[in-house]
Amino acid sequence: MILEAAHPPALDDELNPRESAEARFDEAAERLGLDEGIQKVLRTPSREIIVHIPVQLDDGRLEVFTGYRVQHSIARGPAKGGIRYAPDVTHDEVRALAAWMTWKCAVTNLPFGGGKGGVICDPNLLSPGELERITRRYTAEIFEFIGPEVDVPAPDMNTNEQTMAWIMDTYSMHARHTTTAVVTGKPIDLGGSRGRAEATGRGCMIVADQALRKLGLDRASTRVVIQGFGNVGGMAARLMARAGFKIVSIIEWDGAVYNPNGLDITALAKHRHDTGSILGFPGGEEIDRDDAMFLETEILIPAAKENVITSHNAHRLRTRILCEGANGPTTHSADSILAEKGIFVIPDILANAGGVTVSYFEWVQDRQGYFWNEQLVNDRLEEIMINSFKDVVSYAEKHTVNNRIAAYMLALDRVAFAIRLRGIYA
Ligand code: NAD
Repeated sequence: MILEAAHPPALDDELNPRESAEARFDEAAERLGLDEGIQKVLRTPSREIIVHIPVQLDDGRLEVFTGYRVQHSIARGPAKGGIRYAPDVTHDEVRALAAWMTWKCAVTNLPFGGGKGGVICDPNLLSPGELERITRRYTAEIFEFIGPEVDVPAPDMNTNEQTMAWIMDTYSMHARHTTTAVVTGKPIDLGGSRGRAEATGRGCMIVADQALRKLGLDRASTRVVIQGFGNVGGMAARLMARAGFKIVSIIEWDGAVYNPNGLDITALAKHRHDTGSILGFPGGEEIDRDDAMFLETEILIPAAKENVITSHNAHRLRTRILCEGANGPTTHSADSILAEKGIFVIPDILANAGGVTVSYFEWVQDRQGYFWNEQLVNDRLEEIMINSFKDVVSYAEKHTVNNRIAAYMLALDRVAFAIRLRGIYA
C-alpha cells in the first residue's frame, strides 16, 4: 500500500521548524485540555534579550554583530540551552529552539527551563581572535541575565568547548570569582564532565535499545542506518557497533557507504579522519545517499539536520524504529504517514536528550565541586534515559496518542503543573 498524503503541503510551508513545533504544541495542549491562560504563558517566552556587539576585526575595521538570548521558561529551574553562531540565525528561530529546550528538559525531568542564544555571524569568515572577541563581548552584554541560578548556556551549532571556556572566563571576570557552573560543555580541565562528548549518541543508543526490547527484536540481528557521522551520529555508530548492533549504512552530505554485514565503524572513522570523507572506504560499497535513507532496516537514526523526513518522502521509509538524533528531522506533516506505517518513533525531545542530561550532571558537579568518574555519569544517564523512555511510552499507551504527542503532553503537563504550583499566574 502506498501511503502518501492525499495532498502533501507545499514543501516550503512544511519546513519551518517553528510551525512544526507549534502544530505539535497545539495538538498536545488540546488533548490535555490546557486552559487558555496557561497556553498563553507556555507560548510566550519569559524573557528575550537582543544585543548589538561592537567588535574590532583583525584588519582594524569595527563591525557590529547582533546576538540573542531567549529564556522561554524558568518555571522548573534556570533556563538551559545552547548558543549558536551562524549567518542565518534569526530571533524567531532562537525563540522556537528555546521552547524546544523547555520541553526536552521537562520530558527528562531535569530541574531546568529552556533557553537558547545565537549570534549572527559567519564563523568560517572569522579568525579565532575575532570569535573570541565576539564571544567575550556577547557574554559581557548578557552578563546579568545568565548565571548558574538563572540561565546556563551550552554549545550549539558552530560553538564548542573553547567558546564555553571564553564565556566562563568572561563571566568570572565580571563576577570577580571563578564560576564554572555558568555554562556546560566546557573542557574537562575547566569543570567539564566526563562522558559529555559521548552523551547524546549514548542516549540515542539507550532509547533505541529500549525500543528494540519493546518490539521484541533482537540486538544481534538489528540493522541500523545512521544519517550524519558527526558528534551525535558518529558517537552513536561507534557505541552501537561496540554493543553488537549491525551498522549497515552511514550517510553523509557527500554520499553513503553500505555493508550488509555491518560496517567497521572504527576503520570508517579513521578513513574519514585521514581523507576528509566517508567515500572511498574499502570496507563497504558506495550507494546513493537518498536510497540509503530508505533501506529496509530495524533502526534509522537521522542525526545530521532538520527536515529530512517530510510528507514528500516519509512513505518511502522502511524502518521499524525511527530514533531522532537530530533536532527536528521530521516535519509535522510527515507524522501521520509514520503513524500509518506503524513506525515506532522516538521523538527528538526524548532521543537526543542525553546531551542536556549530562550537561545537567556537569552543572551539578561544578556546584558540588566534586567530580564523578565516567562510569557513574554513564550509569546515571542510562537511568534517566530509560525512565524517560518508559514515561513517554506508557503515557502514549494510556492516552492512545503517538510517542511524539505523548512526549509533548508529558512536557506541557509538567511545566503547567509547576506554574500552577508556584502560583505564578495567580
Ligand atoms: P555535527 O556537525 O557534529 O555532525 C553533523 C554531521 O552531519 C556532519 O558530519 C555533517 O557532515 C553531516 N551532514 C550535514 N548535512 C548532511 C546531509 N544533508 N546528509 C547527511 N549528513 C549530513 O553536529 P551534531 O552535534 O552531531 O548535531 C547533529 C544534530 O543533532 C543537530 O540537529 C543538532 O541540533 C542535534 N543535537 C546535537 C546534540 C549534541 O550534543 N551535539 C544534542 C542534541 C541535538
